[in-house]
Amino acid sequence: MKRVAIIGAGPAGLMAAEAALERGARVAIYDAMPSPARKFLMAGKSGLNITHSEDEAIFRSRYTAPDGRLAAMVEAFGPEEIVRWMAGLGIETYVGSSGRVFPVGMKASPLLRAWLARLGKGGATLHTRHRWKGWDGNGALLFDTPEGEVRLTADATILALGGASWRRLGSDGAWADILAARGVEIEPFAPSNCGFTVDWSTRMLAAQEGAPVKGVALTAGGRTQRGDFVITRAGIESGAVYPLSAALRQELAGSGAATLLVDLLPDTEEGALAARLGGAQAKDSASNRLRKAARLDAVKIALLNEVTKGAPPKDPATLARLIKALPLTLTGTAPMDTAISTAGGVAWDALDDRLMLKAIPGTYCIGEMVAWDAPTGGYLLTACLAMGRAVGADNR
Ligand SMILES: Cc1cc2nc3c(=O)[nH]c(=O)nc-3n(C[C@H](O)[C@H](O)[C@H](O)COP(=O)(O)OP(=O)(O)OC[C@H]3O[C@@H](n4cnc5c(N)ncnc54)[C@H](O)[C@@H]3O)c2cc1C
Repeated sequence: MKRVAIIGAGPAGLMAAEAALERGARVAIYDAMPSPARKFLMAGKSGLNITHSEDEAIFRSRYTAPDGRLAAMVEAFGPEEIVRWMAGLGIETYVGSSGRVFPVGMKASPLLRAWLARLGKGGATLHTRHRWKGWDGNGALLFDTPEGEVRLTADATILALGGASWRRLGSDGAWADILAARGVEIEPFAPSNCGFTVDWSTRMLAAQEGAPVKGVALTAGGRTQRGDFVITRAGIESGAVYPLSAALRQELAGSGAATLLVDLLPDTEEGALAARLGGAQAKDSASNRLRKAARLDAVKIALLNEVTKGAPPKDPATLARLIKALPLTLTGTAPMDTAISTAGGVAWDALDDRLMLKAIPGTYCIGEMVAWDAPTGGYLLTACLAMGRAVGADNR
């Protein structure tokens, strides 16, 4: 019986454990935290968008990875397989209006409970409070535990240590130095699916901090995303911003600033809007005109005033054009620890076709710790589960 050590009890590691168990391996799972899958549980707090129901080819195009290895894994264990797998754990799913797939209960905890019970029944052992530190001189795995240092050997080691955000949930990226010291190429971490900083005026913050800007269309790098975002003390964050983060990050890296085009009224055609603005009562104040004729709410009017320094254009056609494409200047990314996910990590060149580290035979890497990127929408969890499935099944 092959002994497989899985380090990191997030979704990628747990799925690798399940697949290895099914293939008859003896499986031990280790995690630094006092309990497993804390980030997965946190994802459940916002509904657990576990995958997406869109067309397969579009689904696969969401991933940024240098070759077809990730796409092949997601093709083998993608949205349909995930829904079936959840049903096998007694968790029903539904497709939201945006095509995103959620568990009916909108939580991760029932799924995790059923999953851990099945893994335990299958013979996997889970060792929490085991912080992996690397290898000793003889190649044994080294852990810090409450009982002191522990050394262990395994026939195969699957690292599923996560990215470098939300360190309080366990994903601190500290593993990068351990692997780099063994000659593994690591791409620098970068925040992904993250908020961005904006130099808001004190007036804007005093009136609008925490306000949601609803029903807008955001455009960056040629991609448009509809949805909402939130004005924060530091800048902007949430839903519609996250999917554009790769494009915005690239623009920021090039020029130190990025422009996000905000269509404040995506369902209103520009000509019709200009006509409405032109027909407004001459006696109306500028903000009354925006409220009544353009039907903008207070936070959208505040945004328009912020960008135009309190002087929105008077000409109806110019004003309509601006409302349809308001250029908001972003000055940077929000701190990495607040990002939903991180780009960067173990370079694909450091891995062979089975995701084994070329520099450390018998050791594999899966999940967010590998250098791929994807927007929110269920793509992150799908890829983590698919990688776990592929590598776990390979280690029988
Ligand atoms: C607020 C929030 C909401 C999210 N919502 C969604 C969503 O709806 N849909 C979606 O697809 N994705 C979502 N994500 C992202 C998703 O949760 C992650 O991409 C996913 O959990 C990554 O899985 P992983 O198994 O690779 O790593 P992780 O889940 O990060 O797990 C890594 C594990 O490794 C352990 N570990 C790290 N270092 C060590 C060490 N040295 N020794 C031992 N153990 C160690 C950690 O304690 C942790 O348990 C969300 C993330 C956040 C923060």
